[in-house]
Amino acid sequence: MKVLLHEMSWPEAKEYFSENDIAILPVGSNEQHGPANPLGTDHLIAKSIAEETAKRTRVLCLPVIPFGVSPQHRQFWGTIFVSPRAFKEYVREICLSLGYYGVRKVVVVNGHGGNLPVLSELARELRESGMFTSIFQWWPAAVKLLPDIFTAEERRHAGAEETSVNLALHPQLVNMTKAFDEMPRTHALQIEGLTLPLSTVDETNSGVYGKQSTASAKKGTRVFESVVNELVRHVNRLKEAKIEGLMQKPKV
Ligand SMILES: [Zn+2]
Repeated sequence: MKVLLHEMSWPEAKEYFSENDIAILPVGSNEQHGPANPLGTDHLIAKSIAEETAKRTRVLCLPVIPFGVSPQHRQFWGTIFVSPRAFKEYVREICLSLGYYGVRKVVVVNGHGGNLPVLSELARELRESGMFTSIFQWWPAAVKLLPDIFTAEERRHAGAEETSVNLALHPQLVNMTKAFDEMPRTHALQIEGLTLPLSTVDETNSGVYGKQSTASAKKGTRVFESVVNELVRHVNRLKEAKIEGLMQKPKV
């Protein structure tokens, strides 16, 4: 049985949607990850995790949405960004389109942290209208599942962890001779407890936060396997769950 929507014919899609009320939607961004990594890092990783999970759970997976909320990287060439409002409405309409075919449960596999605030808002709004959306992010999962294989400096944007997953999934797109280790600058105005509207270019020259040069495909494979296993557990549970039990509870 096929699980990738874009590979199905419409009768095959009809068969799936007639029997299932769940789908997986990968989303990411197209943004700089330092000179060594491809711009597609966040959407390529989300796509791979989502598609592997789909194959193991027999749950339908949509094509990845490659553009997200990443204006903070725009000074680095090739970063294509959309507004939070545009991203939110685009994802909403894709979910509503799935709803037209009877989908009531959507697992969003998000590859870019900057998308999370709007995805969280959207998930709450969709729940009010009868659709349950969960959002999975691989890197907070990896910190919990494999706490010891990377240091905090290796787990930052474009660091060794993310680069390792790239090396495991698409090594031909990574050029480790261009790897950078860069500790971000602290802004002169920074004090404890302060949030500033900074961009990546305010803090780094290369676009890399922390340590990247220690990346390896072997570590990346461990991360990929662990996070896919974890997501498979969730998708299998959600597949079995009745939508009625997932909706807002009445007033107490
Ligand atoms: Zn990234």
